[in-house]
Amino acid sequence: MGTPYVMLDYLGLGDDLTEEERMVRDTAREFLDEEIRPDIGEHFVEGTFPIEKIPEMGELGFYGPNLEGYGSLGLGERAYGLLMEELEACDSGMRSMASVQGALVMYPIHAYGNEEQKETWLPKLGSGEAVGCFGLTEPNHGSNPSEMETRAERDGDEYILNGNKTWITNSPIADVAVVWARDVSSEDSPVRGFLVETERDGVSTNEIKEKLSLRASITGGIALSDARIPAENVLPEVSGMKGPLSCLTQARYGIAWGAVGAAKDAFEQAVEYATDREQFGKPIAGFQMQQEKIAEMATRISLAELLAHRLAELKERGDLRPQQVSMAKRNNVRMARRVSRTAREMLGGNGITTDYSPMRHLANIETVYTYEGTHDIHSLVLGEDLTGIAAYK
Ligand SMILES: Cc1cc2nc3c(=O)[nH]c(=O)nc-3n(C[C@H](O)[C@H](O)[C@H](O)COP(=O)(O)OP(=O)(O)OC[C@H]3O[C@@H](n4cnc5c(N)ncnc54)[C@H](O)[C@@H]3O)c2cc1C
Repeated sequence: MGTPYVMLDYLGLGDDLTEEERMVRDTAREFLDEEIRPDIGEHFVEGTFPIEKIPEMGELGFYGPNLEGYGSLGLGERAYGLLMEELEACDSGMRSMASVQGALVMYPIHAYGNEEQKETWLPKLGSGEAVGCFGLTEPNHGSNPSEMETRAERDGDEYILNGNKTWITNSPIADVAVVWARDVSSEDSPVRGFLVETERDGVSTNEIKEKLSLRASITGGIALSDARIPAENVLPEVSGMKGPLSCLTQARYGIAWGAVGAAKDAFEQAVEYATDREQFGKPIAGFQMQQEKIAEMATRISLAELLAHRLAELKERGDLRPQQVSMAKRNNVRMARRVSRTAREMLGGNGITTDYSPMRHLANIETVYTYEGTHDIHSLVLGEDLTGIAAYK
């Protein structure tokens, strides 16, 4: 099977990393090589996530390490990106776990929560003692979540929530859900974020088992039926679609890096296989047609990696625009989709098994291409930014 201890770095970007960034990258790689990679193919086949590793991932600082305070490591954005790259080089399900917990659950609490909410949840989520999920998508509203039907109605010191969320990563194992709902008791019914403990009456979750993609990740629904939550569970500092959309910008930043990791892993396996596998009396890597594929993959990966590194610089100095993140998510995920397909093809029949990673990455990337804004939606985001004309409707 061949574990990729060294990943492609054609442009020498690794040479410019700081000590801290190298440490983050190497710690993640070592953990994944020892604890996760040996069984990830089996998890994919079984449709399970290594739940028992969630606290260890927390101890290693995988959840929200780029946030400040509350037990967080306060890492720079490039170190955070490298972590996402390593996680997704193992499996998109591993990166999804960290993205949801850090960027979609801890981030909104950190950015929009009150002091008590932060103190209650951030240390527990950061350590992996608690698991969170992010409930935005609904059965009838995916690409256009602003039309959401989930409602929250004020009743004294409580809110009563009704509605259904679907395709929610980790909902069946979550302790708390950040649920986005229309606050119908306020003027214009703005979208607001509610911290919903999943053990409350009126809250139930189900698991979506029939996935052919992102199988090593738990996905489900959340049903809210007259679920009462205390009014102090509202995230007080945000109102409107800015709330969920700003979280998605954080998570998409991680995806732009993660996709590079998945593609590199597929690439490494393809090159290793091609240099070893002989047909017509020589390694298949010695045929020009295979070399063209290798050259093309390495070039696409390197360009996507440059984009991720540039995003880190912009994010670090506070200049990153959501549209730039859309460009990187769109480009890098499409790149990973193409590269993992080419890598799979180079492995011949063996390439369709779980003994090698490319087909697993290829299947996973179908989800990554769709979630956090589909490829099409990011085209429209860029189209609007570049022309000033919105073409969503
Ligand atoms: C495994 C998995 C995990 C997920 N995890 C989460 C999670 O944790 N939390 C969460 O809230 N959501 C999650 N999602 C949901 C995900 O974000 C949605 O699937 C995604 O936003 C797309 O919505 P949809 O599936 O309803 O597709 P639709 O919106 O119905 O889109 C179907 C197709 O139509 C296209 N389309 C839609 N509108 C337009 C338009 N205006 N112009 C051109 N084309 C258009 C789309 O690009 C797509 O190709 C997850 C999804 C998956 C598959």
